[in-house]
Amino acid sequence: MSGSRPARRSAGSGPPRSVDLRAREDGPLRRNIGYSGGSVWLPGNRVLARQGVDDSVEKGLTHFFRAVVGDRTRPEVQQAYLETGPAVADFLENTVGISLDHQPFPDYFDAPGRSDNGRSIFAGPITADEVGDGLSDLRPMVAADQFGATVERSPLDGGQAWIARMVLALDATGRADLLLSTGVDSLAQDESGEVTGVVATAPDGTETRIRVPRPWPFRKSFG
Ligand SMILES: Cc1cc2nc3c(=O)[nH]c(=O)nc-3n(C[C@H](O)[C@H](O)[C@H](O)COP(=O)(O)OP(=O)(O)OC[C@H]3O[C@@H](n4cnc5c(N)ncnc54)[C@H](O)[C@@H]3O)c2cc1C
Repeated sequence: MSGSRPARRSAGSGPPRSVDLRAREDGPLRRNIGYSGGSVWLPGNRVLARQGVDDSVEKGLTHFFRAVVGDRTRPEVQQAYLETGPAVADFLENTVGISLDHQPFPDYFDAPGRSDNGRSIFAGPITADEVGDGLSDLRPMVAADQFGATVERSPLDGGQAWIARMVLALDATGRADLLLSTGVDSLAQDESGEVTGVVATAPDGTETRIRVPRPWPFRKSFG
């Protein structure tokens, strides 16, 4: 992927078609995922299968939700998470174009169905050159961000790779704008009360209404 990317824009300079928002402070995207290891626990997906991990949605259900979580969360929500997981991995690789990896480390909990390899997938590492100009928009790793340490930023991995790849994928659609320094104040609703978007404040203080495009890529009702 090339290093050049569309210029960032601020709210109020035209109608956005899709949006990601950050809080009002200046500086890089503040998302916690920039600090995160970026491990996504997702049983029975294609990434585990191609790396030879013997796993399934049913095994994930047995181990984590039946043996560890139990009835502390709603069964239909547990089921929806597990059943949608493999489709999310398919969607990320096939439609969004994000390469995914598995790194083996055991499930945290010593309970029936535990996998020695774990069930975690990660965004594939990405070099600073691939990220290009957008690197300065990304929150640095915690040692640099919190303690001023000098940290090599290439290749990016973990949560840094997720956010870099997500931003590049968003740019690649040619249909999305990142509105920086734009604070959401409230939800916008139609006459029936359905949420249609947000009301936000642009960096220059003006109010802007941002509609959420439909249909959602994943929409499933449960409960
Ligand atoms: C060190 C560390 C390691 C971790 N490792 C893992 C891991 O391996 N696996 C895992 O699953 N999780 C991990 N996590 C947790 C994970 O990173 C977070 O749960 C996840 O990033 C939360 O994402 P989010 O989008 O919900 O929230 P956030 O990342 O907090 O993003 C919220 C965003 O909304 C913005 N915002 C807030 N208010 C407004 C407003 N009014 N208007 C506009 N924007 C606003 C904020 O500025 C921010 O950019 C880890 C976390 C840490 C700190």
